Amino acid sequence: MTLAERDHNVIWHPYTQMKTAALPIPIVRGEGAMLYAEDGSSYVDGVASWWVNLHGHAHPYIARKVAEQLQTLEHVIFAGFTHSAAVTFAERLLQILPQGQSRIFYSDNGSTAVEVALKMAIQYWQNLDTPKRKIIAFRDSYHGDTFGAMAVSARSAFTAPFWSYLFEVEFIEVPIPGSEEVTVEQLQTFALNGDVAAFIYEPLVLGTAGMVMYTPEVLDQLLAVCQQHNILAIADEVMTGFGRTGRLFASDYLQHKPDMVTMSKGLTGGTMALGATSCNEKIYEAFLSDDKLKTLFHGHSYTGNPVACAAGLASMDLLLLDNTQGDIERISQQHAAFSERIKELPKVKQVRQQGTILAVEFEADGTSYFNKLGDTLYSFALEQGVILRPLGNIIYVIPPYCITNEQLGLIYETIMGMQQIITGTRHFEPPTQTTLHD
Ligand SMILES: *Cc1c(COP(=O)(O)O)cnc(C)c1O
Repeated sequence: MTLAERDHNVIWHPYTQMKTAALPIPIVRGEGAMLYAEDGSSYVDGVASWWVNLHGHAHPYIARKVAEQLQTLEHVIFAGFTHSAAVTFAERLLQILPQGQSRIFYSDNGSTAVEVALKMAIQYWQNLDTPKRKIIAFRDSYHGDTFGAMAVSARSAFTAPFWSYLFEVEFIEVPIPGSEEVTVEQLQTFALNGDVAAFIYEPLVLGTAGMVMYTPEVLDQLLAVCQQHNILAIADEVMTGFGRTGRLFASDYLQHKPDMVTMSKGLTGGTMALGATSCNEKIYEAFLSDDKLKTLFHGHSYTGNPVACAAGLASMDLLLLDNTQGDIERISQQHAAFSERIKELPKVKQVRQQGTILAVEFEADGTSYFNKLGDTLYSFALEQGVILRPLGNIIYVIPPYCITNEQLGLIYETIMGMQQIITGTRHFEPPTQTTLHD
């Protein structure tokens, strides 16, 4: 039996219809932006392995730091105990986080980082004896797959089976260029009606919605409304953090700073599962009390895991190198040049870019995640030796920062090929014997 067949017998994959999905591709090794498969084929990782990888696969420096940590202290209970990796990482995160953040709460992934932020926000108001119920979010947002995170995410096909179990959230439109005023008015109306605990948002780029982008100017307006009406602002930087948008955090483009920031994905450079929620001193202080009931009763078995924190520290060392900052700039410029090349071509509806994130939206009937075009484009990319996971008719690139211009070039040519398939000037027959991934 091949590894893929053994997998098929025992594994249930994420976001995968197991009945119809093609057998997964066994990867045996990674290096830089490349992934190498069991059958000898290789792939440029154009999606940074689900948006997590910053410095390339199996990075020797991160590997060494993780190995050293593993041989010193692999884990210790984080209630009543501490260790150098967690403290140093928190100190260094606070140095680079948007101004005003003063405390780090560790968890395991992006969804739990969001859960922690929501619980902090809700309990904050209760601890002050002025409970507030409402949470505001963007209509097309994505904040994770656990229940609280689902509740503040779009009421989409992803969450449909659970709608009746999700707590109520007030949704406002995404303020895409041209419809900014509507969103600001909606937020103002909710703010005036009162009872709003917090506003949670993906700053500048809504990832899962299809790399939907909006300007820092309108977000600043929204945050000004929050500040004026005492609404806690939660920046979900799980995807946008650590250089993705061209600056260390998307919030760095803004005048108004958030009360809380959620992080994961690039937090460890894509090496280990780790989540973090930061907050400002105002929130932290609301939990300080002689009354034990004002404690934040939240924690995970692996809170502050030393190995994950060591990976985070090593990744931050690499991220702050001039070289890496130069790479981020270089990728942004390459993306911008490619945008110019493709944006006027037939069937290209819109090209969006923010730093290292590039999205090409094709015209298509039905723009849903589930449309067949995405399947065709996905397998076409694989055939070209590139991993790109279309969100329906939207193809995006979010590469590791170490990607070479040559590898980027292969990605761009693949997207040009997709444009030709869509316009019918290039023929591509997706493999038939196996059905494809969502
Ligand atoms: C991916 C993502 C999450 C969820 O993170 P997981 O680690 O997958 O649980 C939350 N928020 C945003 C903005 C994300 O992109």
